[in-house]
Amino acid sequence: MKKIIIHWTAGNYFPSDYEKQFYHFLIDKDGNIFEGKFKPENNLRCVKGHYAAHTGGGNTGSIGIAMCGMYGFKNKNCQGAYPITAKQFEATMEYCAKLAIKYRIPIAPETVMTHYEFGKKHPETTSAGKIDITFIPSYPWLEKNDVGKFIRSKIKWYKEKLQGE
Ligand SMILES: [Zn+2]
Repeated sequence: MKKIIIHWTAGNYFPSDYEKQFYHFLIDKDGNIFEGKFKPENNLRCVKGHYAAHTGGGNTGSIGIAMCGMYGFKNKNCQGAYPITAKQFEATMEYCAKLAIKYRIPIAPETVMTHYEFGKKHPETTSAGKIDITFIPSYPWLEKNDVGKFIRSKIKWYKEKLQGE
């Protein structure tokens, strides 16, 4: 696997069977990790109907991980009924660190990114304009263009912690 792409589901706090088709891993509001319908390895060669289609134009070789929530989110003043919880966010960062270790994926902008960042880099794809992740409720002061960088530094921190450095 070459990349990790991080999402929110834009749904409620728990993964539905429908959502499980689109992501390899989904994290609920309490930080529990659920496996999706497909394994990351199913995205090595994307065969229609047999892989997790999480990132339009960027699925091949990419692990898709999603935090459950953010249905109805508009902006920091109108977050909807399912803002990502602090526990959920931290659990997601730690799990991304585990995936980065397992698959030897470097934690860099080209290899670990949000769906929003992917869309910005690839405006010709259906990922253009995606807003996951432009806002983290537990870190509301972060600007949308700093979220990816912040996430990578978090994941690096968890990686070092997991490796006992
Ligand atoms: Zn997404």
